[in-house]
Amino acid sequence: MAEIIINQLHKSFADFVAVRNSSLKLEDGKFVVLLGPSGCGKTTTLRMIAGLEYPTSGQITLDGKDVTYLRPRERDIAMVFQLFALYPHMGVRENLAFPLKNEGLPKAEIDRRINEVAAILRIEHLMNSRLSSLAGGDRQRLALGRAIVRQPKAFLMDEPLGTLDAEFRELMCIELRKLHERLKTTTVFVTHDQNEAMALADHIVVMNQGDILQADSPEGVYNFPSCVFVAQFIGRPPMNLLPLSQGVQAGVREVKLGGVSVAIPLTIGHANSALLGIRPEHVMLTNDPQAIQGKISQVEYFGSHWIVVVDTESGLIRAMVPKTNRPNEGDVVGVQFKTERTVLFDAVSQQLLASETTQAHQRSMNHG
Ligand code: ATP
Repeated sequence: MAEIIINQLHKSFADFVAVRNSSLKLEDGKFVVLLGPSGCGKTTTLRMIAGLEYPTSGQITLDGKDVTYLRPRERDIAMVFQLFALYPHMGVRENLAFPLKNEGLPKAEIDRRINEVAAILRIEHLMNSRLSSLAGGDRQRLALGRAIVRQPKAFLMDEPLGTLDAEFRELMCIELRKLHERLKTTTVFVTHDQNEAMALADHIVVMNQGDILQADSPEGVYNFPSCVFVAQFIGRPPMNLLPLSQGVQAGVREVKLGGVSVAIPLTIGHANSALLGIRPEHVMLTNDPQAIQGKISQVEYFGSHWIVVVDTESGLIRAMVPKTNRPNEGDVVGVQFKTERTVLFDAVSQQLLASETTQAHQRSMNHG
Protein backbone atom coordinates (compact mmCIF):
# COMPACT_ATOMS: atom_id res chain seq x y z
CA MET A 1 0.00 0.00 0.00
CA ALA A 2 1.31 3.43 -0.85
CA GLU A 3 0.49 7.08 -1.12
CA ILE A 4 2.45 8.76 -3.91
CA ILE A 5 2.78 12.53 -3.95
CA ILE A 6 4.39 14.42 -6.78
CA ASN A 7 5.22 18.02 -6.05
CA GLN A 8 6.07 20.61 -8.70
CA LEU A 9 7.51 17.86 -10.90
CA HIS A 10 9.20 19.23 -14.00
CA LYS A 11 11.00 17.47 -16.82
CA SER A 12 12.72 19.11 -19.78
CA PHE A 13 14.59 17.44 -22.62
CA ALA A 14 16.93 20.25 -23.72
CA ASP A 15 14.52 23.15 -24.51
CA PHE A 16 11.44 20.93 -24.69
CA VAL A 17 9.20 20.73 -21.61
CA ALA A 18 7.66 17.22 -21.38
CA VAL A 19 6.11 17.68 -17.90
CA ARG A 20 5.46 21.15 -16.49
CA ASN A 21 5.51 21.76 -12.71
CA SER A 22 2.96 19.06 -11.98
CA SER A 23 1.58 18.40 -8.53
CA LEU A 24 -0.63 15.46 -7.70
CA LYS A 25 -1.62 13.29 -4.77
CA LEU A 26 -2.17 9.63 -5.66
CA GLU A 27 -4.13 8.24 -2.76
CA ASP A 28 -3.31 4.95 -1.13
CA GLY A 29 -5.20 2.04 -2.70
CA LYS A 30 -6.64 4.01 -5.61
CA PHE A 31 -6.53 3.17 -9.30
CA VAL A 32 -5.33 6.35 -11.00
CA VAL A 33 -5.27 6.71 -14.78
CA LEU A 34 -3.06 9.25 -16.56
CA LEU A 35 -5.03 10.09 -19.71
CA GLY A 36 -4.17 12.35 -22.61
CA PRO A 37 -3.19 12.50 -26.26
CA SER A 38 0.11 11.20 -27.58
CA GLY A 39 3.09 13.24 -26.38
CA CYS A 40 1.30 14.92 -23.44
CA GLY A 41 3.82 13.62 -20.88
CA LYS A 42 2.01 10.60 -19.39
CA THR A 43 4.85 8.12 -19.86
CA THR A 44 7.47 10.61 -18.72
CA THR A 45 5.47 11.19 -15.51
CA LEU A 46 5.18 7.43 -14.95
CA ARG A 47 8.87 6.85 -15.64
CA MET A 48 9.78 9.51 -13.09
CA ILE A 49 7.56 7.78 -10.49
CA ALA A 50 9.27 4.47 -11.38
CA GLY A 51 12.77 5.97 -11.19
CA LEU A 52 13.53 5.24 -14.84
CA GLU A 53 13.83 8.98 -15.50
CA TYR A 54 14.97 11.70 -13.09
CA PRO A 55 13.10 15.01 -13.01
CA THR A 56 14.68 18.32 -13.90
CA SER A 57 13.15 19.66 -10.68
CA GLY A 58 10.44 18.79 -8.17
CA GLN A 59 9.91 15.94 -5.75
CA ILE A 60 8.27 12.51 -5.52
CA THR A 61 7.41 10.94 -2.18
CA LEU A 62 6.26 7.39 -1.52
CA ASP A 63 4.53 7.03 1.85
CA GLY A 64 6.18 10.23 3.00
CA LYS A 65 9.70 9.15 1.96
CA ASP A 66 11.51 11.21 -0.67
CA VAL A 67 12.24 8.79 -3.54
CA THR A 68 12.89 11.41 -6.25
CA TYR A 69 16.43 10.24 -6.98
CA LEU A 70 16.27 6.64 -5.76
CA ARG A 71 16.94 3.88 -8.28
CA PRO A 72 13.91 1.85 -9.45
CA ARG A 73 14.75 -1.21 -7.36
CA GLU A 74 14.99 0.93 -4.22
CA ARG A 75 11.36 2.09 -4.59
CA ASP A 76 9.38 -1.14 -4.14
CA ILE A 77 7.16 -0.29 -7.10
CA ALA A 78 6.41 -2.70 -9.96
CA MET A 79 6.32 -1.45 -13.53
CA VAL A 80 4.13 -3.42 -15.96
CA PHE A 81 4.95 -2.71 -19.58
CA GLN A 82 3.11 -4.22 -22.51
CA LEU A 83 3.59 -7.92 -23.06
CA PHE A 84 7.32 -8.00 -23.30
CA ALA A 85 8.18 -8.21 -19.61
CA LEU A 86 8.26 -12.02 -19.83
CA TYR A 87 11.37 -14.18 -20.33
CA PRO A 88 10.69 -16.28 -23.44
CA HIS A 89 13.17 -19.04 -22.59
CA MET A 90 11.53 -19.71 -19.19
CA GLY A 91 8.28 -21.55 -18.45
CA VAL A 92 5.27 -20.02 -16.69
CA ARG A 93 6.30 -21.04 -13.17
CA GLU A 94 9.88 -19.88 -13.72
CA ASN A 95 8.70 -16.50 -15.02
CA LEU A 96 6.69 -15.98 -11.83
CA ALA A 97 9.48 -17.25 -9.59
CA PHE A 98 12.24 -15.17 -11.14
CA PRO A 99 11.64 -11.82 -9.38
CA LEU A 100 11.26 -13.61 -6.03
CA LYS A 101 14.47 -15.63 -6.49
CA ASN A 102 16.19 -12.33 -7.27
CA GLU A 103 14.98 -11.01 -3.92
CA GLY A 104 16.46 -14.12 -2.27
CA LEU A 105 13.18 -15.38 -0.78
CA PRO A 106 13.10 -18.97 0.59
CA LYS A 107 11.63 -21.64 -1.71
CA ALA A 108 8.58 -22.27 0.49
CA GLU A 109 7.64 -18.58 0.40
CA ILE A 110 8.19 -18.44 -3.37
CA ASP A 111 5.89 -21.46 -3.88
CA ARG A 112 3.24 -19.97 -1.58
CA ARG A 113 3.19 -16.65 -3.44
CA ILE A 114 3.20 -18.26 -6.87
CA ASN A 115 0.26 -20.50 -5.99
CA GLU A 116 -1.66 -17.55 -4.58
CA VAL A 117 -1.08 -15.44 -7.71
CA ALA A 118 -1.94 -18.35 -10.01
CA ALA A 119 -5.27 -18.73 -8.20
CA ILE A 120 -6.03 -14.98 -8.36
CA LEU A 121 -5.34 -14.88 -12.10
CA ARG A 122 -6.88 -18.31 -12.77
CA ILE A 123 -3.77 -19.66 -14.50
CA GLU A 124 -3.15 -22.66 -12.21
CA HIS A 125 -3.64 -25.07 -15.13
CA LEU A 126 -0.85 -23.34 -17.06
CA MET A 127 1.82 -23.42 -14.40
CA ASN A 128 3.91 -26.10 -16.11
CA SER A 129 3.40 -24.76 -19.64
CA ARG A 130 6.00 -23.26 -21.91
CA LEU A 131 5.61 -19.57 -22.72
CA SER A 132 5.38 -20.22 -26.46
CA SER A 133 2.21 -22.29 -25.95
CA LEU A 134 0.28 -19.47 -24.21
CA ALA A 135 -2.49 -17.47 -25.92
CA GLY A 136 -2.23 -13.66 -25.84
CA GLY A 137 -4.58 -13.25 -22.90
CA ASP A 138 -2.75 -15.80 -20.76
CA ARG A 139 0.57 -14.10 -21.52
CA GLN A 140 -0.92 -10.77 -20.42
CA ARG A 141 -2.22 -12.38 -17.22
CA LEU A 142 1.20 -13.89 -16.61
CA ALA A 143 2.81 -10.46 -17.10
CA LEU A 144 0.43 -9.10 -14.46
CA GLY A 145 1.25 -12.10 -12.27
CA ARG A 146 4.95 -11.25 -12.51
CA ALA A 147 4.13 -7.83 -11.10
CA ILE A 148 1.76 -8.86 -8.31
CA VAL A 149 3.83 -11.80 -7.08
CA ARG A 150 6.36 -9.30 -5.72
CA GLN A 151 3.64 -7.68 -3.61
CA PRO A 152 4.96 -4.20 -4.39
CA LYS A 153 3.69 -1.02 -2.78
CA ALA A 154 2.35 0.21 -6.10
CA PHE A 155 1.86 -0.85 -9.70
CA LEU A 156 2.81 1.37 -12.60
CA MET A 157 1.32 0.34 -15.94
CA ASP A 158 2.19 1.90 -19.29
CA GLU A 159 -0.52 1.08 -21.84
CA PRO A 160 -0.43 -2.60 -20.78
CA LEU A 161 -3.43 -3.41 -22.97
CA GLY A 162 -2.16 -1.44 -25.96
CA THR A 163 -1.40 -4.41 -28.19
CA LEU A 164 -4.66 -6.28 -27.60
CA ASP A 165 -7.65 -6.29 -29.92
CA ALA A 166 -10.76 -4.34 -28.86
CA GLU A 167 -12.77 -7.26 -27.50
CA PHE A 168 -9.89 -8.62 -25.48
CA ARG A 169 -9.02 -5.17 -24.16
CA GLU A 170 -12.48 -4.90 -22.71
CA LEU A 171 -12.16 -8.28 -21.01
CA MET A 172 -8.76 -7.37 -19.57
CA CYS A 173 -10.17 -4.08 -18.27
CA ILE A 174 -12.74 -6.06 -16.29
CA GLU A 175 -10.03 -8.45 -15.05
CA LEU A 176 -7.77 -5.59 -14.02
CA ARG A 177 -10.53 -3.80 -12.17
CA LYS A 178 -11.50 -7.01 -10.35
CA LEU A 179 -7.87 -7.59 -9.46
CA HIS A 180 -7.64 -4.09 -8.09
CA GLU A 181 -10.82 -4.54 -6.01
CA ARG A 182 -9.16 -7.57 -4.49
CA LEU A 183 -5.60 -6.32 -3.96
CA LYS A 184 -6.29 -2.58 -3.43
CA THR A 185 -2.71 -1.77 -4.41
CA THR A 186 -2.13 1.83 -5.49
CA THR A 187 -2.00 1.72 -9.29
CA VAL A 188 -0.95 4.32 -11.84
CA PHE A 189 -2.05 3.39 -15.34
CA VAL A 190 -1.18 5.28 -18.53
CA THR A 191 -3.49 5.30 -21.54
CA HIS A 192 -4.72 7.56 -24.32
CA ASP A 193 -7.99 5.58 -24.48
CA GLN A 194 -10.82 7.29 -22.61
CA ASN A 195 -12.98 4.15 -22.51
CA GLU A 196 -10.19 2.27 -20.75
CA ALA A 197 -9.77 5.19 -18.35
CA MET A 198 -13.50 5.36 -17.56
CA ALA A 199 -13.73 1.60 -17.01
CA LEU A 200 -10.74 1.35 -14.70
CA ALA A 201 -10.15 4.54 -12.78
CA ASP A 202 -11.05 5.76 -9.33
CA HIS A 203 -9.38 8.99 -10.43
CA ILE A 204 -8.54 10.24 -13.91
CA VAL A 205 -5.71 12.72 -14.45
CA VAL A 206 -6.16 14.45 -17.81
CA MET A 207 -2.93 15.81 -19.29
CA ASN A 208 -2.10 17.89 -22.34
CA GLN A 209 1.21 19.35 -23.53
CA GLY A 210 2.98 18.57 -20.27
CA ASP A 211 0.26 20.06 -18.03
CA ILE A 212 -2.18 18.36 -15.68
CA LEU A 213 -5.54 19.86 -16.62
CA GLN A 214 -7.82 17.98 -14.22
CA ALA A 215 -7.57 15.25 -11.60
CA ASP A 216 -11.02 14.01 -10.74
CA SER A 217 -13.41 11.06 -10.61
CA PRO A 218 -14.53 9.68 -14.00
CA GLU A 219 -17.93 11.35 -13.40
CA GLY A 220 -16.15 14.63 -12.58
CA VAL A 221 -14.08 14.81 -15.76
CA TYR A 222 -17.16 13.89 -17.78
CA ASN A 223 -19.75 16.14 -16.15
CA PHE A 224 -17.58 19.03 -14.92
CA PRO A 225 -14.60 19.33 -17.28
CA SER A 226 -12.13 21.90 -15.94
CA CYS A 227 -11.57 23.45 -19.36
CA VAL A 228 -12.55 23.30 -23.02
CA PHE A 229 -9.80 20.77 -23.83
CA VAL A 230 -11.13 18.22 -21.30
CA ALA A 231 -14.72 18.84 -22.49
CA GLN A 232 -13.69 17.99 -26.03
CA PHE A 233 -11.24 15.17 -25.24
CA ILE A 234 -13.64 13.20 -23.03
CA GLY A 235 -16.88 11.83 -24.48
CA ARG A 236 -17.79 10.63 -27.99
CA PRO A 237 -19.23 12.63 -29.60
CA PRO A 238 -17.67 15.46 -27.59
CA MET A 239 -19.56 18.06 -25.57
CA ASN A 240 -21.42 20.73 -27.61
CA LEU A 241 -19.79 24.14 -27.10
CA LEU A 242 -21.93 27.11 -28.12
CA PRO A 243 -20.62 30.68 -28.15
CA LEU A 244 -22.44 33.26 -25.99
CA SER A 245 -21.24 36.49 -27.51
CA GLN A 246 -22.80 38.64 -24.78
CA GLY A 247 -20.81 36.81 -22.05
CA VAL A 248 -22.15 36.00 -18.59
CA GLN A 249 -22.36 37.85 -15.31
CA ALA A 250 -22.06 36.28 -11.86
CA GLY A 251 -25.41 35.28 -10.43
CA VAL A 252 -27.33 34.92 -13.70
CA ARG A 253 -29.76 32.04 -14.14
CA GLU A 254 -30.29 32.29 -17.87
CA VAL A 255 -28.43 33.26 -21.02
CA LYS A 256 -29.52 34.13 -24.56
CA LEU A 257 -28.62 31.72 -27.32
CA GLY A 258 -29.71 32.81 -30.80
CA GLY A 259 -32.41 35.02 -29.26
CA VAL A 260 -33.79 32.20 -27.09
CA SER A 261 -33.48 32.20 -23.27
CA VAL A 262 -31.66 29.13 -21.94
CA ALA A 263 -31.71 28.36 -18.20
CA ILE A 264 -28.30 27.60 -16.64
CA PRO A 265 -27.09 26.62 -13.15
CA LEU A 266 -26.44 29.68 -10.93
CA THR A 267 -23.09 31.04 -12.12
CA ILE A 268 -20.50 32.35 -9.67
CA GLY A 269 -17.82 33.52 -12.13
CA HIS A 270 -18.20 36.02 -14.96
CA ALA A 271 -16.73 36.35 -18.45
CA ASN A 272 -16.95 38.84 -21.31
CA SER A 273 -17.41 36.06 -23.80
CA ALA A 274 -18.37 32.53 -22.89
CA LEU A 275 -19.10 29.06 -24.24
CA LEU A 276 -22.10 27.08 -23.12
CA GLY A 277 -21.32 23.36 -22.85
CA ILE A 278 -23.89 20.59 -23.01
CA ARG A 279 -23.39 16.85 -23.61
CA PRO A 280 -25.39 15.40 -26.57
CA GLU A 281 -27.36 13.10 -24.21
CA HIS A 282 -28.71 16.16 -22.41
CA VAL A 283 -30.03 17.78 -25.58
CA MET A 284 -33.68 17.06 -26.44
CA LEU A 285 -35.45 17.58 -29.76
CA THR A 286 -38.89 19.15 -29.48
CA ASN A 287 -41.74 20.64 -31.52
CA ASP A 288 -41.91 23.61 -29.15
CA PRO A 289 -41.64 26.80 -31.31
CA GLN A 290 -40.15 28.65 -28.29
CA ALA A 291 -37.09 26.37 -28.35
CA ILE A 292 -33.90 27.05 -30.37
CA GLN A 293 -34.83 26.24 -33.98
CA GLY A 294 -32.63 24.40 -36.45
CA LYS A 295 -32.54 21.98 -39.35
CA ILE A 296 -31.27 18.41 -39.05
CA SER A 297 -28.14 18.17 -41.20
CA GLN A 298 -26.95 14.67 -40.29
CA VAL A 299 -28.24 11.51 -38.61
CA GLU A 300 -25.83 8.78 -37.49
CA TYR A 301 -26.97 5.39 -36.21
CA PHE A 302 -25.15 4.04 -33.12
CA GLY A 303 -27.10 0.86 -32.46
CA SER A 304 -28.70 1.92 -29.18
CA HIS A 305 -29.38 5.55 -30.27
CA TRP A 306 -29.09 8.14 -33.03
CA ILE A 307 -26.69 11.07 -33.03
CA VAL A 308 -28.52 13.92 -34.70
CA VAL A 309 -26.69 17.05 -35.83
CA VAL A 310 -28.91 20.15 -35.85
CA ASP A 311 -27.75 23.23 -37.73
CA THR A 312 -28.85 26.26 -35.66
CA GLU A 313 -28.12 29.98 -35.66
CA SER A 314 -25.69 29.30 -32.77
CA GLY A 315 -23.83 26.57 -34.63
CA LEU A 316 -24.10 22.79 -34.92
CA ILE A 317 -25.72 21.07 -31.93
CA ARG A 318 -25.44 17.29 -31.47
CA ALA A 319 -28.27 15.45 -29.76
CA MET A 320 -28.41 11.82 -28.67
CA VAL A 321 -31.85 10.54 -29.56
CA PRO A 322 -33.41 7.19 -28.49
CA LYS A 323 -33.38 4.64 -31.30
CA THR A 324 -37.19 4.50 -31.42
CA ASN A 325 -37.43 8.08 -32.73
CA ARG A 326 -35.81 8.01 -36.18
CA PRO A 327 -35.25 11.68 -37.09
CA ASN A 328 -34.98 12.73 -40.73
CA GLU A 329 -32.36 14.87 -42.37
CA GLY A 330 -33.85 18.19 -43.48
CA ASP A 331 -36.52 18.27 -40.72
CA VAL A 332 -36.85 21.55 -38.83
CA VAL A 333 -36.80 20.88 -35.08
CA GLY A 334 -36.57 22.68 -31.76
CA VAL A 335 -33.62 22.02 -29.42
CA GLN A 336 -33.81 22.12 -25.62
CA PHE A 337 -31.21 21.45 -22.90
CA LYS A 338 -31.45 19.82 -19.50
CA THR A 339 -30.80 22.98 -17.49
CA GLU A 340 -28.93 21.35 -14.62
CA ARG A 341 -26.53 19.75 -17.13
CA THR A 342 -25.21 22.88 -18.82
CA VAL A 343 -21.72 24.17 -17.99
CA LEU A 344 -20.06 27.46 -18.91
CA PHE A 345 -16.51 28.20 -19.99
CA ASP A 346 -14.71 31.52 -20.31
CA ALA A 347 -14.14 31.73 -24.08
CA VAL A 348 -10.79 33.51 -23.62
CA SER A 349 -9.14 31.53 -20.79
CA GLN A 350 -11.00 28.35 -21.87
CA GLN A 351 -11.50 27.56 -18.16
CA LEU A 352 -14.72 26.34 -16.53
CA LEU A 353 -16.72 29.11 -14.87
CA ALA A 354 -17.76 28.03 -11.42
CA SER A 355 -21.43 27.38 -10.81
CA GLU A 356 -23.40 26.05 -7.85
CA THR A 357 -23.27 22.58 -9.36
CA THR A 358 -19.53 22.53 -10.07
CA GLN A 359 -18.83 23.81 -6.56
CA ALA A 360 -21.08 21.14 -5.04
CA HIS A 361 -19.10 18.55 -7.04
CA GLN A 362 -15.79 19.92 -5.77
CA ARG A 363 -17.07 19.80 -2.16
CA SER A 364 -18.14 16.19 -2.57
CA MET A 365 -14.72 15.28 -4.07
CA ASN A 366 -12.86 16.92 -1.21
CA HIS A 367 -14.94 15.07 1.36
CA GLY A 368 -15.11 11.80 -0.51
P1 ATP B 1 2.76 8.51 -25.94
O1 ATP B 1 1.47 7.85 -25.61
O2 ATP B 1 2.89 8.86 -27.38
O3 ATP B 1 3.97 7.81 -25.38
P2 ATP B 1 3.00 10.33 -23.74
O4 ATP B 1 1.92 11.21 -23.26
O5 ATP B 1 3.30 9.13 -22.91
O6 ATP B 1 2.71 9.93 -25.23
P3 ATP B 1 5.74 11.00 -23.34
O7 ATP B 1 6.29 9.70 -23.82
O8 ATP B 1 5.77 11.26 -21.88
O9 ATP B 1 4.29 11.23 -23.91
O10 ATP B 1 6.53 12.17 -24.08
C1 ATP B 1 6.22 13.52 -23.89
C2 ATP B 1 7.07 14.32 -24.84
O11 ATP B 1 8.43 14.25 -24.45
C3 ATP B 1 7.00 13.82 -26.28
O12 ATP B 1 6.94 14.92 -27.15
C4 ATP B 1 8.29 13.07 -26.46
O13 ATP B 1 8.74 13.12 -27.80
C5 ATP B 1 9.23 13.82 -25.54
N1 ATP B 1 10.27 12.93 -25.00
C6 ATP B 1 10.07 11.84 -24.23
N2 ATP B 1 11.23 11.25 -23.91
C7 ATP B 1 12.23 11.99 -24.52
C8 ATP B 1 13.65 11.89 -24.58
N3 ATP B 1 14.31 10.93 -23.93
N4 ATP B 1 14.29 12.84 -25.28
C9 ATP B 1 13.62 13.84 -25.92
N5 ATP B 1 12.28 13.98 -25.91
C10 ATP B 1 11.60 13.07 -25.22
